[in-house]
Amino acid sequence: MAKAIYQNKKFVSLSITTWLILVGISYYFFLRFESINYYNLILEFIISCVALYLLYSIQPFKKMPFYKTLALGYYLLFVSYFVDSIDQIFIHSIGYTVVMEKITLIASFVFIFFGTKKWMENYQQIALTDDLTQLPNRKLIRQRINNLIKTCKNNPSIFSLVIIDIDFFKKINDQHGHYYGDKILRQFAKLISSSLNNNEMLGRWGGEEFVLIKKNTDKKTALIELESLRKAIAKRSFKIDNEFVKMTASFGVSEYKCTKQDFKGLFMEADKAMYNAKNSGRNRIR
Ligand code: GH3
Ligand code: MG
Ligand code: MG
Repeated sequence: MAKAIYQNKKFVSLSITTWLILVGISYYFFLRFESINYYNLILEFIISCVALYLLYSIQPFKKMPFYKTLALGYYLLFVSYFVDSIDQIFIHSIGYTVVMEKITLIASFVFIFFGTKKWMENYQQIALTDDLTQLPNRKLIRQRINNLIKTCKNNPSIFSLVIIDIDFFKKINDQHGHYYGDKILRQFAKLISSSLNNNEMLGRWGGEEFVLIKKNTDKKTALIELESLRKAIAKRSFKIDNEFVKMTASFGVSEYKCTKQDFKGLFMEADKAMYNAKNSGRNRIR
């Protein structure tokens, strides 16, 4: 307990200061009731403590983007209910009640709503982003492809799915270690990302495999367009410490034409094409 208080010094001093200030204001500026409604006093005090506990429970998330908004919401909720509870002892003016109890309560709901929304969005983004490359992960890519397949029913349009697999990537790890392997994967992701247009979406499928979706593009066009990317990869020198390494990638393409094909079929077709590219000597598009 003592350790928890020490680790949350700011939180504890904020709570005590708020209590002292609010009681002090009431004590100096407002008269007291002759009889106190202890039932309401205790109930509202407990609610204010619950709000304080909520504020305490999010202390480990101080560095997260939602923290400030949510913390302000819980703090205002605590203030509102604490003023409400000592309202049973002191005869607060209407103006003070409106500002310190009611407006504070409404504001707390607004901040809690937006803080919680930010929290959910933040975790959703983490759940759908690949940690190493910051690209959409497998789950998000699959969602996007399934959405395209669904919308095809009402709004027919062709799209191409491309699997990009780095050639002999294991050798890079074996020769330079996984740390530099990771660095190259990030550079590789950046290189492809920088070549994308508004019709294209890239994600990391896993390992050294990436998936590219080319909207409104049939396979024939995709094969032509991907040629410049294949060349750009082969031309590029990837930096490892003070060394540079060369790499190539193999591409497998399939196209979706609003037929009955599902995600699995579409993906397997691109995968098969990618293995065909590997078996034909790598650094190829199929
Ligand atoms: P191929 O041309 O047949 O694709 O050969 P390859 O070596 O690229 O393929 P293989 O499937 O044999 O090996 C893939 C390697 O990718 C093995 C694994 O060590 C490496 N790898 C997978 N994920 C990561 C990662 O996140 N970081 C690093 N550094 N390496 C990874
Ligand atoms: Mg692979
Ligand atoms: Mg590979």
